[in-house]
Amino acid sequence: MTTLADIASCVSGYDPNALPVAQAQDFISRLVPQVDAAESLPIRSALGRVLAHDVVSAIDVPAHDNSAMDGYALRGSDLLVDAPTALDVVGTGFAGDSAVGEVLAGQCLRIMTGAVMPAGLDTVVPQEFVEANDGKVVIPSGIVRPGDNRRRAGEDLAAGEAVLHAGRVLRPADIGMLASLGQAEVRVRRRLRVAFFSTGNELRSVGETLPPGCVYDSNRYTLWAMLQRLNVDLLDMGVVRDDPPALEAAFRHAAENADAVITSGGVSVGEADHTKQVMAELGDVLFWRIAMRPGRPMAIGRIESGGHAAILFGLPGNPVAVMVTFYAFVREALLKMGGAVPQPLPMLRAASVKAMRKKPGRTEYQRGVVSRATDGSWQVEITGSQGSGILRSMSEANGLVVLHHEQGSVEAGELVDVLPFDGLV
Ligand code: AMP
Ligand code: MG
Repeated sequence: MTTLADIASCVSGYDPNALPVAQAQDFISRLVPQVDAAESLPIRSALGRVLAHDVVSAIDVPAHDNSAMDGYALRGSDLLVDAPTALDVVGTGFAGDSAVGEVLAGQCLRIMTGAVMPAGLDTVVPQEFVEANDGKVVIPSGIVRPGDNRRRAGEDLAAGEAVLHAGRVLRPADIGMLASLGQAEVRVRRRLRVAFFSTGNELRSVGETLPPGCVYDSNRYTLWAMLQRLNVDLLDMGVVRDDPPALEAAFRHAAENADAVITSGGVSVGEADHTKQVMAELGDVLFWRIAMRPGRPMAIGRIESGGHAAILFGLPGNPVAVMVTFYAFVREALLKMGGAVPQPLPMLRAASVKAMRKKPGRTEYQRGVVSRATDGSWQVEITGSQGSGILRSMSEANGLVVLHHEQGSVEAGELVDVLPFDGLV
């Protein structure tokens, strides 16, 4: 197994005390293993799951050339160029009928959308363009060209074609496409198992009274919610006291029962509690100071117990830092562990409503509200106080403004990158 030192030697410019975000992401992507177990599921249970194999179409979809309109199917070669074309109507084709008999030159077929095109016919004229009388239609010249309004067999999916690739996170259109192939079940990777807990003696859980000096544990709830969106199996281990035997028992249980464990708190430099010490004793763990804001301290590595290992993400304690480090590092790593081929997140370019001070040499994630300016272009305004403990800044935002590593201060009106929180599917 590659050690963390091996990985560090592959990451260019690795400096654990001022690690650029891109290097930290590179390191993590080299560290994480993939689950390879798979299971078959009914397609409706597979939304958001990771496809285990390429899906190859066994059939042409559609199976036959068919009409894209309600109208009359004809031979394009019968159409006159500079005079109306008159044709005899010899029958009607409805969607679901098998192919009707031969239609000869000079003849046409009344046809409905989705009905099979008889052999030799290649064009459909929509019904609203023709005059129909006494078993004949007259088609004005120039209304249709040969080949119009016909859907070709296999134009959606061709037999033998790989239509979805392994590693795809299945979306609504994919579920529909699997159905269009007649597939009732699909093989997906097993769900990743993720354990998570909060550390800190000051933390109380909801439902408990709050003694002086204590705060409610919110990180476990934001983590739960962010993990839900990733479609993983969750093991919520609660709040673990700052007590070495309790911490050791928690980490061992996580290593034995999960693929990854996420903790919050206790990883700052100079931290008085025992979390870091116990992490280090149970595996190969690094303590980073990342060149970012918020979210500077983070522990990363592998912990082991009873022959089982889990990837450890030791996130900082501050509530905003937890969310930002999760989106910057954990989200993509978990997708990858689950077998997904992560797709780059769409970024918006929006004009910053206000000036922002920023030092080059670290990445900053500011919480912002993206909206349309009066001219229709995107603009973004930072939400109130940006302290890393102020979760409200995150709740009020609809996107993260990403001020990149090399970037300096931003002037009002300057375009910045924003990661929107919401997508269509
Ligand atoms: P730490 O990283 O443990 O020094 O924690 C940094 C700050 O985040 C402290 O003010 C903690 O009280 C706070 N904090 C740590 N864990 C949580 C949590 N689970 N929920 C809310 N606040 C927390
Ligand atoms: Mg703490």
